[in-house]
This record gives sequence, C-alpha cells and structure tokens, in this order.
Amino acid sequence: MSVLAQLNSAIANASVRVVDLTAPLTDSTPVLRLPEPFANTINFQLEEISRYDERGPMWYWNNIHTGEHTGTHLDAPNHWVTGRDGLDVAQVPLRTLVAPAVVLDASERVAKDPDFLLRIEDVQAWEAEHGALPDGGWLLYRTGWDEHSGDQERFLNVDETGSHTPGVAADCARWLAEQTPIVGLGVETVGTDAGRAMELDPAFPCHSLILGAGKCGLTQLRNVAQLPATGALLVVCPLPIVGGSGSPARVLALVEEAG
Ligand code: MN
Repeated sequence: MSVLAQLNSAIANASVRVVDLTAPLTDSTPVLRLPEPFANTINFQLEEISRYDERGPMWYWNNIHTGEHTGTHLDAPNHWVTGRDGLDVAQVPLRTLVAPAVVLDASERVAKDPDFLLRIEDVQAWEAEHGALPDGGWLLYRTGWDEHSGDQERFLNVDETGSHTPGVAADCARWLAEQTPIVGLGVETVGTDAGRAMELDPAFPCHSLILGAGKCGLTQLRNVAQLPATGALLVVCPLPIVGGSGSPARVLALVEEAG
C-alpha cells in the first residue's frame, strides 16, 4: 500500500487523529493592542452581502474584514523590519507549511509566572529528553495560554505595568533563530513575543531575530496539549496574500495514536 493510502486508512480508522489547532474567528477573537502612538489592527468582522433575501434570494455570503494578524495566524519573514527583504506570506515554502512539529511544555512554570521567558537551557533540557529540534520543522511552545483565548482581557492580561503574557528570552530567540534547524516558532499567545517584550534587548526578540532569519511565526494556537512532544505533522494553511506580511491560518496537526 502506498504511503498516502496508508495515511488515508489510518485517518479513517482514527489511528491517526487530526487535531485542530485553530481559534475560531469571530468579532470577539482577541487581537493585539499596541499602545499609543502605534496603529492597531481591526477585529475580525463579517459584512453580510445577502442572506436568501432581495439582495440575493437563493444565496448567503459575506465580505470579511480582518487584519492579516488576527486570530490564529502566520507571521511571514517580511512582517518585521529585520526581515523586510524576506519572503511574503504567499512565498512561504510549502515545505514550511507541511512539516514536523515538536512541543515544549512550559505551562506549569507559566501558571506560576505569566511573564515567564523560555531560556536556552529549557530547550536544551527538552532536547536531552526528546532529541534534537526537527530539521525543517516547528517548535510549538506550550504555555497553557490558550485557556484564555476566548476572552480579550484575560488573553492580553494588561495591568498598569503592561501586558503579562509568556514569551522567549532574547538570547533564546537568537539561538532558535540562528543555531537551530527549525523553520518556525508556534505559540498560544497573541504574538510570538512576551507581553513585555518591548523591554527586552532586542525589543520583540522573536519577531526581530526569528523573522529576521527568514523563519516564520505562528500564533494563537489551541489544543497544543493534545500533541505529543515529538511526532506530530503540522499542516499550516495561510491565505496566499501576495505581498502580505501574514494571514489568518487554519492550522491542523496529524497525530499518531499510541498503538
Ligand atoms: Mn503576527
């Protein structure tokens, strides 16, 4: 039997499970809120064209209003000034969009400290247990933050000192960008960087260094807890927006059930 025929039958008999890592898109899907004087993205919105009425008696359809960086979405390298000459979202290689994914779970530490920053030693400890990060694959950074993803306030967790959401330390972002063979970093938070990443050096190190290295980001993932530490196959489907800096994306993972 061919590999794809085997895969089809494995999906049919549920020995391979398809996990949806995507947040649903509604007008209340949380979006990033930058402080003054920066410009912000819009919320997702449906604008009805017709609904089986005089505007179109037999059909229902909408225009959609959305930012590129709304809900579960892909950050293309050209999203950041460090990657401005890099690929746009329509140019991201298909081999990046269908690729292995590993999961590093820091949710226990994040539960104690929402400002937790992932360190190189945390990733190296993960590698000591599970093997090297996948060549051409994704590191999915589990923080438990998807628990808050239905609520803008809890998701951004802002107080008078700023947004308190987990991220990656600057030296770890540099190491992931420059010293590891991954093609992207996926997170459960509104962006790949910590809520207070403006204070790091460089500011927004995941954006600056990972996109600057021609790699991609993936945000607002759900259900990462259903994935094994290694062995999942990620399928990322951003819209091919020509010249775009990112796109809302349906993100699926294929997971082999323990036999
Ligand atoms: Mn983004």
